[in-house]
Amino acid sequence: MDSDLQISSLTKPILTSGLGERRFFYRTLGEAMRREFGCNVWKVSVDAGFSCPNVGIDGNGNVRNGCIFCDINSFSPSRRFVAGKPILVQIDEGITQLKRHYPKAQKFIAYFQPSTNTNAPPEQLKIIYNEALKHPEIVGLTIGTRPDALPEEVLELLAAISREKYLQLEIGLQSIHQKSLDFLNRGHTYSAFIDSYNRVKKRKIKTGVHLILGIPNENRDDVIETAKEIAYLNPVSIKLHNLYVVRGTRLADYWNDGKLTLPTIDEYAEMVIDFLERIPPEIIIDRISSEATEEYIIAPDWSRIKHAARNTINKLFLLRKSYQGKYYGKFS
Ligand code: SF4
Repeated sequence: MDSDLQISSLTKPILTSGLGERRFFYRTLGEAMRREFGCNVWKVSVDAGFSCPNVGIDGNGNVRNGCIFCDINSFSPSRRFVAGKPILVQIDEGITQLKRHYPKAQKFIAYFQPSTNTNAPPEQLKIIYNEALKHPEIVGLTIGTRPDALPEEVLELLAAISREKYLQLEIGLQSIHQKSLDFLNRGHTYSAFIDSYNRVKKRKIKTGVHLILGIPNENRDDVIETAKEIAYLNPVSIKLHNLYVVRGTRLADYWNDGKLTLPTIDEYAEMVIDFLERIPPEIIIDRISSEATEEYIIAPDWSRIKHAARNTINKLFLLRKSYQGKYYGKFS
């Protein structure tokens, strides 16, 4: 669902009074990748044309309309490339573009991003993943998926690849609260996520979790409950998005009908910090907000401004003398 091409850049180094020197407000993916690979690693988005189990007719004959924030006709904005282009061509083009914008980029991870990238028979998945790994500048894979698209055979395949190469699975959860999963029309429960998550963890596959903050009717207590729960699950990484409205979605209808309220940038920053304060410091924070291009986004306005959320969050971290993990393991 997300639109990230870039591995997060570093946050500004700071000193926090009375707490010793802390270089970062939160642990960025960029820093984690430099430790893992010893150089600057960037994600290059790959669209292998996968479909999504939450869209279309499911195995029980039920119509699935997709998540309310997703443009199910195009999976925009995350479906950036025309599906059907050979994977190696997509990678070549993506790397060329990244190197032009970010000359420090040295190695690359193929990021299977749009839609549900485990939604195919394992034999087909194997061919697709191996194709990406053939590229000389690709050092690993990140694979975005849903909790209901991880059957045992697919996990066996992912486990086998991860024994040889860097592989990270990103599972879209979005919320631990059933009221929010229903509102978003995710089509799965939290317990379904837990079941998949435990099966993935059992195989020692690196696992990240996607979450949305700023969902209507989630209050501060809900956000803190989510943080504590995710801290307990202890994934390798967390990717945070603010809820944002993209053209062509049911969420856009709500917004246009005046039925949706979104947090201001300051309210969102408070939520992110409340959340990160309860997350173990070693968990990688892959991103802390969503950004979408003018072409797709309707609201909030601040999502259109590059780095606006990140800068606001960093300022607030400083103001609150806070950092990731400040309250982890404490009663707060
Ligand atoms: S799971 Fe992802 S691709 Fe499927 S409908 Fe939801 S956001 Fe869209």
